[in-house]
Amino acid sequence: MLWIMLEDLDIQCPHCGALFTTTADPSAGDYETIEDCEVCCRPMTIRVTFDEDGEPWADVEAA
Ligand SMILES: [Zn+2]
Repeated sequence: MLWIMLEDLDIQCPHCGALFTTTADPSAGDYETIEDCEVCCRPMTIRVTFDEDGEPWADVEAA
C-alpha cells in the first residue's frame, strides 16, 4: 500500500507578513510553485524541499 500524505506547511507572505497554511505533496519531491497571497494578492515563490525524514520545508520569497 502506498501512502500519500499531504503535509501542512506554514507560510509567511514576504510582502505583507500574513501567515497562512498551504499543502505540500511529498509524492512530487522537491518543487517550486508560485502562489498569490490570500491577503494582499501579491505573488510569492514557494520552494518546497523535503528532508530525509520526509518533513517539508518551505522557502518563500517575493516573486
Ligand atoms: Zn501578502
